Amino acid sequence: MSEKKYLCDQCNEPFGNPQALKFHKENKHFICGICGAKFNAFSAINQHKEMKHPKNG
Ligand SMILES: [Zn+2]
Ligand SMILES: [Zn+2]
Repeated sequence: MSEKKYLCDQCNEPFGNPQALKFHKENKHFICGICGAKFNAFSAINQHKEMKHPKNG
């Protein structure tokens, strides 16, 4: 039995690893993984990261 331990805190969708959860959150909920800022579009969070976290990637 494999148990998915990583639940999305936004929609409770389960994931098998933290990278999948991070990808989900950044693509479905558009939440910055570095500072937690929320956006309504993928382009918006990308622009935020380039401006606010240019070296943390
Ligand atoms: Zn989610
Ligand atoms: Zn940020």
